[in-house]
Amino acid sequence: MNKFAGPKVGPLANSFQLSLCYPFHMNDCIFCKIVRGEISSYKVYETDETLAFLDINPVAKGHLLVIPKGSDSSNIFDISAHEWSAVMETVRVVSTALEKALGADGVNIMMNNREHAGQIIFHPHVHLIPRFKGDGLKLWPHGSYKEGEAAEVAEAILETLKK
Ligand code: 5GP
Repeated sequence: MNKFAGPKVGPLANSFQLSLCYPFHMNDCIFCKIVRGEISSYKVYETDETLAFLDINPVAKGHLLVIPKGSDSSNIFDISAHEWSAVMETVRVVSTALEKALGADGVNIMMNNREHAGQIIFHPHVHLIPRFKGDGLKLWPHGSYKEGEAAEVAEAILETLKK
């Protein structure tokens, strides 16, 4: 029940910040308002627990967002396993329809978690971005590991998962 997972802001928090879900009540969130129909959106698929709708500023035409409808969580770090499963199933169903409907050649499935990962709306959401052969969209650059670095990083993750 973490409604306070966003960055801390002081009493000068403005309505813009409030409307993005943090740090106060989730019901003021833009996506919660879309679920309730208080903000219009192009909804394409809905289950009891999830909703898929067009992103207002698409990376590519047909860019969709999939969200849990009743969530009081902010991102991957506090969403319940049950809600996440429901979101993932909707992602699977809608990705298939998205590719077919637009005659796309693939779909990128992405999620930004926390401010420094690019998250601006603090209600869990997964981006579905249709891709087309030769569209030239570059999502992120690839790097490389120095000698021994990959083993070190893998070990740190592995040890944390054991705890
Ligand atoms: P984030 O950066 O948090 O992962 O992505 C938030 C997404 O929400 C952005 O791609 C942005 O275009 C989209 N978005 C923000 N406000 C609205 C809105 O009012 N309606 C819709 N449909 N999408 C929105």
